[in-house]
Amino acid sequence: MHMIVTNKKGLSQAWVSAVRNDQYERAGDYSVTQLISPAQLQILLERHRDKVVMDVQEGLWILLGKSVHYILEQSHTRGALTEHTLLFNIGNFQVSGTPDRLERIDDPEEKAAMSFLRSISPDRDWPERVRQYHLRDFKITSIYAIKEGPKDDWVRQTNCYGFMLRQQGIAVTRLSIETLLKDWRMSEYMKERNGRGYPDAQAQVLDVPVWNDAKCYEYLEQRVNLFESSKMLPDDKLPRCSHEERWAKPDRFAAVYHSKGTTVAARGGGNFDSQMDAEAFIAGYTGKKQLHVEFRPGESVRCEGYCPVKHWCRQYREEICGDEF
Ligand code: SF4
Repeated sequence: MHMIVTNKKGLSQAWVSAVRNDQYERAGDYSVTQLISPAQLQILLERHRDKVVMDVQEGLWILLGKSVHYILEQSHTRGALTEHTLLFNIGNFQVSGTPDRLERIDDPEEKAAMSFLRSISPDRDWPERVRQYHLRDFKITSIYAIKEGPKDDWVRQTNCYGFMLRQQGIAVTRLSIETLLKDWRMSEYMKERNGRGYPDAQAQVLDVPVWNDAKCYEYLEQRVNLFESSKMLPDDKLPRCSHEERWAKPDRFAAVYHSKGTTVAARGGGNFDSQMDAEAFIAGYTGKKQLHVEFRPGESVRCEGYCPVKHWCRQYREEICGDEF
């Protein structure tokens, strides 16, 4: 069952076919990418996929992500495994996962130390080295997404893959995310490099904390149980998406002034958690501008801009749009 793809900008049919041509077929009962996503969203998508309308331009970034994955998959290198689908049973259900790339970790220091020890004491039964592996996942994303390190979803996803590989006897001891930041600009970096932690390059490698196997199993089991119990429920009784799952931004307050018909935040005064903090900033302000507090309402970024099933979502109607839906 496919979504309905529209072409509002009149792009060539090549784009439309490429976006429509989704070759992905899930192996097993659940995929890891499905399980890390909100249960409500995934179940509504299963039920209403053939009615979901997506314009072709919304699918272009997904297409870019797929093409980068495809190119990297083709670049075979020794000692690496790419895009291999794994299966693991959680109770009666089969979970699949396809990590982007698995590489052997070559530790030259350890290698040198072992040959030194063997050379000075060849009769001793030195243990064989345990081969260790590094799992890498590739993400085409934005600077905002990596502001606080790897996203929680990526941590969960790579840990599930690492766990599934360890169940096959492959000792995955390192996980990382390699990002291509599509909105990175050299000019912005030059402007901000002394200040606000703007990334120093378009590509970044983010190390992911490695969970132990018990934590990975518990996470997968809890997600499968949630999906299984939710599948019995009607649309309007599905478990609600959390704050984190909705990519919700909280309400903010800013100390602003008017200039040439627009509102501008004072330097250092654009982002406060509370009205009181913004007022305290204004009280201590020594500049010449006439400042006042502006309320900036929070938003559920995923619901508003990225959720394909919001039209069938009761939570969206009730909590996010109110009467405007
Ligand atoms: S619209 Fe928001 S609350 Fe509803 S399923 Fe989508 S992400 Fe979840």
